Amino acid sequence: MMDYVERVLEELKAKNPGEPEFHQAATEILNGLRPVVARHPEYEKAALLERFVEPERVVMFRVPWVDDAGKVHVNKGYRVQFNSAIGPYKGGLRFHPTVTLSVIKFLGLEQILKNSLTGLPIGGGKGGSDFDPKGKSDNEIMRFCQSFMTELCRHIGQDTDVPAGDIGVGGREVGFLFGQYKRIRNEHVGVLTGRGLSYGGSLVRTEATGYGLVYMVEEALACRGDSLVGKTVVVSGSGNVAIYATEKAQQLGAKVVALYDSNGYIYDKNGIQLDVVKQIKEVERARIKVYAERVKGAEYHEGCKGIWSIPCDIALPCATQNEIDGDAARLLVKNGVKYVGEGANMPSTLEAIEVFQKAGVVFLPAKAANAGGVATSALEMAQSSGRMFWTFEEVDAKLKQIMVNIYHNMDNAAKEYGVEGDYVAGANIAGFKKVADAMMAQGIV
Ligand code: NDP
Repeated sequence: MMDYVERVLEELKAKNPGEPEFHQAATEILNGLRPVVARHPEYEKAALLERFVEPERVVMFRVPWVDDAGKVHVNKGYRVQFNSAIGPYKGGLRFHPTVTLSVIKFLGLEQILKNSLTGLPIGGGKGGSDFDPKGKSDNEIMRFCQSFMTELCRHIGQDTDVPAGDIGVGGREVGFLFGQYKRIRNEHVGVLTGRGLSYGGSLVRTEATGYGLVYMVEEALACRGDSLVGKTVVVSGSGNVAIYATEKAQQLGAKVVALYDSNGYIYDKNGIQLDVVKQIKEVERARIKVYAERVKGAEYHEGCKGIWSIPCDIALPCATQNEIDGDAARLLVKNGVKYVGEGANMPSTLEAIEVFQKAGVVFLPAKAANAGGVATSALEMAQSSGRMFWTFEEVDAKLKQIMVNIYHNMDNAAKEYGVEGDYVAGANIAGFKKVADAMMAQGIV
């Protein structure tokens, strides 16, 4: 006979056909929740899991915009307001051609538990568009953002739903989105996080996800009597998360030797020169390939996969979902990887996670390891509503403490439920318990 978790997963797949990323995330999460569900038979009576995997609201809309040549384009816009049991919906916006409802739902589901893990009062949501910002002019980006926000502004609010950035949505896009929200609603409030410092943003928000990831890896190492000093690290991606994970890892004494973008990877055995990467990616918005043209001794390889063949102690996937499959994981293990910290959301396939865990690799799952971004967003919300600003050092210290707390919460949850060292289960359980308690207390809603 099917157990409760299997039954909910079967129903989810039948009700949501053609949504492979959502199925994958739900499978990973619900399988990890088995020990909790077994201890709480009242959850099944209250159809708690069925409600947990069904978004409270899904908004889908048309985003028409005009390019510089006068041609009209139409993109799809999404906002999935997944769960508000513990606070207003909170989660980023992703602009990337691979965005579908399935991708936004997988991200939204993960976000519920991630936000709960931070210990702060924020619910889970996610949104985005299949718009591709690559190669667009600033004016095209602005017109797209304005069109997107013209619809989205009806559904969000500082106490309802507070979006932020994600892939393809950085400071420039958040600025355009905020400007349009303010213009239509006539209110200067903390409705988006990741804002510029001159209009309500928080120090450390830009660095937060990457720094937070490395703070968690540092704590995992410290608990084993080790440190980042002298460790070789491979980081994938070269966007916001990858750049600031590299920066913090270098500050703490590690050597980061590789990065990539969606065209190919760079390998610099002497250690990546981050100022060169920042110039290429943040200022020129050019391809990572340029690094090898500028830095003597660095190599560029077309295609991304090869990055996982570089021997390293620590791998930090920081680009996108499913970038490490079973083969890549086996290669990393064969070459001696000891720690994997997920900066991106769901960068490891289910098979890859199994390979890491069987090999005894310390595997820090995304919903815990990359929670520093949303945690700092919540700190931005607190500063906004209190009309105050904390210093870089104050925010950074709070971020570090949050990451250390998350590590120990998931470690303790794994121990309490008899799966010691399994941080996938530990993170799911620790995040879920608080949401489940709130949902049970609030009745059948
Ligand atoms: P950015 O847009 O700043 O950077 C994304 C990077 O990943 C770019 O280097 C991009 O390369 C690369 N990339 C994207 N898609 C692919 C692909 N299919 N194959 C190979 N490389 C790819 O995004 P972020 O750094 O903000 O986000 C990265 C990950 O971290 C995402 O999974 C996001 O959900 C997650 N995350 C981000 C947070 C944040 O605060 N920003 C918070 C928590 C999680 P290219 O330029 O060629 O497209």
